Amino acid sequence: MADLANCVRCGKVFVKQIRDVCRDCYKEEEAAFQIVYDFLRKQINREATLIEVVEATGVDEALITKFIKENRLRTTMFPKLGYPCEKCRTPITSGKLCMNCAEELKHDLDRVEQLEKITERNKLLSDDKKQIYYTIDKHRR
Ligand SMILES: [Zn+2]
Ligand SMILES: [Zn+2]
Repeated sequence: MADLANCVRCGKVFVKQIRDVCRDCYKEEEAAFQIVYDFLRKQINREATLIEVVEATGVDEALITKFIKENRLRTTMFPKLGYPCEKCRTPITSGKLCMNCAEELKHDLDRVEQLEKITERNKLLSDDKKQIYYTIDKHRR
């Protein structure tokens, strides 16, 4: 059975293969990529930022971001081509968060984990206590 899906760009139902967009949108994306790539390939545009590329080519920021994430536009070649961190908007070239925000997030996660450990320990402790009371009760009888 063919795997049917909705195109993430136009919503049209299509047979899903490796892409998440339909054939028409794929063609459009490829054309857009070509425009962006042609623009960036020129020596003078090598250091263009994402916003500058959007303005110069008219291609959607989200689409260019997708190309960067897919590594089709390499930030080693185009050093200024970062997209904003989802938290603080600092330009980044991989993932969703900048180094700082990623570090912060990790910190938060560590704290949550520690809290969970403490809660777990307290639970165990109170179970122990119950055990003790039970034993004492038995002795009294
Ligand atoms: Zn489509
Ligand atoms: Zn950030």
